[in-house]
Amino acid sequence: MTTQTRKPDAEAIDYSAYDSAVGLNWYSIDPNLRGLVDRYVPAADRDWAEAVLQRWGELCGGPIASRAETIDKNPPQLQHYDPWGKEVSRIVHHPDAIAQKKDIWEEGPRGVEARAARAIPTVLGSAWSYLLSQSDTGMVCATGMTGGVESLVERYAPPEVRERVLPHMQTPEFEGSWDGAMFMTEIRGGSDLASSETVARRDNGGWRLNGSKWFCSNVDARAIATLARPEGAADGLRGLALFLVPGERADGSPNGIRIKRLKDKLGTKSVPTAEIDFVEAEAYPLSNPQAASDSESRGLNRMMSMVNGSRLGVATMGLGIMRRSFLESAIYAAHRTAFGRRLDEHPLVRETLVNMVTAIEGVSAMCFEASSLAGMTGDEQGRRLYRILVPLAKFRGARGGLEQASQAVEMLGGNGYIETWPTARQLRDAQCHTIWEGTENIICLDVLRAMARDNAHDALLDRVDKSLAGSQSAALGGVRDVIAQARRDAQEIIAFLAKAPDDIRQLHARRVTAWLSDLTQASLLLEAAENELKTSGSARKAAVARFFVRERLASSGGPMHAITEDRSVLDLFEAITRYQPLAPEALPAGA
Ligand SMILES: Cc1cc2nc3c(=O)[nH]c(=O)nc-3n(C[C@H](O)[C@H](O)[C@H](O)COP(=O)(O)OP(=O)(O)OC[C@H]3O[C@@H](n4cnc5c(N)ncnc54)[C@H](O)[C@@H]3O)c2cc1C
Repeated sequence: MTTQTRKPDAEAIDYSAYDSAVGLNWYSIDPNLRGLVDRYVPAADRDWAEAVLQRWGELCGGPIASRAETIDKNPPQLQHYDPWGKEVSRIVHHPDAIAQKKDIWEEGPRGVEARAARAIPTVLGSAWSYLLSQSDTGMVCATGMTGGVESLVERYAPPEVRERVLPHMQTPEFEGSWDGAMFMTEIRGGSDLASSETVARRDNGGWRLNGSKWFCSNVDARAIATLARPEGAADGLRGLALFLVPGERADGSPNGIRIKRLKDKLGTKSVPTAEIDFVEAEAYPLSNPQAASDSESRGLNRMMSMVNGSRLGVATMGLGIMRRSFLESAIYAAHRTAFGRRLDEHPLVRETLVNMVTAIEGVSAMCFEASSLAGMTGDEQGRRLYRILVPLAKFRGARGGLEQASQAVEMLGGNGYIETWPTARQLRDAQCHTIWEGTENIICLDVLRAMARDNAHDALLDRVDKSLAGSQSAALGGVRDVIAQARRDAQEIIAFLAKAPDDIRQLHARRVTAWLSDLTQASLLLEAAENELKTSGSARKAAVARFFVRERLASSGGPMHAITEDRSVLDLFEAITRYQPLAPEALPAGA
């Protein structure tokens, strides 16, 4: 991690000078993002990163944002049969979607990395996703899965498959490129994959898959990672193996992937999501299908290694929607008047906009810290920190996108609810992030798992201590005090949960996740504020840190009043939700 000195931006942003968010360079009008790039991109790459992000910010705020609206109104269609009646299972995209994909491929991480012939810093990839999701979060889903499948193929595919597939996934040109996708969810469930029914059968030294997948996004991708149970393998998760299913068989004929129907979705319409059947689909193992007892070669472990990266991607997508929602709100509030004043002169509107910025800076601090740790090898502390930061970031980023998109709809009043304004689509798109790559509950349970299996909370608390120890400025004294108290509360929660019965632990999973997430964001904001005070003398970030701790950590009276052995919500579940009569003595003691 590098900390570089940058002059504060001389000119304040004037939202009244912009007619619309679309048409602006979303990188250059985002000082917080530029600060994160300063902080995390290695000094040697900084000028290069600046150039590529300037270009990308212009595209995302310009043509990519405009096309996203057209694509949303003209989503991909499924063509079942060609004019001769032959089944083709083909997805037909609007021309704007093709132009979108081309720009994203060639000017995004893939094209830039290939042209520069160098690995790009992970935080640059996050900055890319963050900017793209402000315009078209569905396309980030496609890009993220492509990166994930590419890395699975690179690490685990047999050499001849690597040679066949990777050139298409790593080409800088859109023409001839292959997207990736991952089909895990079956009709019986996405959170609990143990019931997966797709079968893998040995065939002439190769493998054939048969079965159905219920949610398949980017369904026309040509490199699909999926889970299937080899014949005779164990039940449950242990027996699942990971396979690559290419769009074409080795002989060049279409593989056995039958698209049954496209989902009629609430949002993220730019990426087609379908139900499919694998029918004798040619597949290549990405794990050892015959060694289901060896945890190293188990399919689910390998798939999950990709899922952690995708979860951070979804957190960043939520963050992107938070930012777009703020930008739309700030521009609108600078133009609209009510009761003789601009909206952004009314106290309640000011507070809303400040809260939006504060939330964005908190989540972005956490996402980029996690991103800077991604793929770290040989650093156990870094690995454990990354392990827990990802679900903490996904929890707040995904929900934050939804909350702020809803807030933006309201800021625009009736107009915000109307599809000719961009806020309605942002709200529809944002809902997906709390479900993709693990629902909020599953993410909270994952935080418990990271604590129980990896002691990841120790790495997190050490990180908080580092921020506290590095801060001496008097202006941040109050923030430090609140964080130090929140850290003590976190330790109390952790000690409590370690001894609590399993149902009580699960009952509090959301509370502990929220607390740890907010503690982490506060400590990273403290660090950034200290850095800004030292390097430029500005206390703007210090003000953000103050608002953040006041709002999230100081106002609740501490988390322990809600984290107790009280199981009345479990005991009274039937009475409350099924409207059963309840004897007064069944009420727990106290208020
Ligand atoms: C637009 C879209 C695109 C998608 N694309 C893909 C894709 O490309 N590939 C893919 O594999 N999947 C995809 N999915 C599926 C997605 O990953 C699943 O929907 C998600 O994992 C949840 O699974 P489920 O729908 O079966 O819900 P369920 O697992 O049935 O969950 C239902 C509810 O129960 C809760 N729940 C479940 N278990 C627990 C528990 N132990 N404790 C507490 N609460 C629990 C969940 O939080 C949720 O609220 C997509 C979904 C959507 C909406």
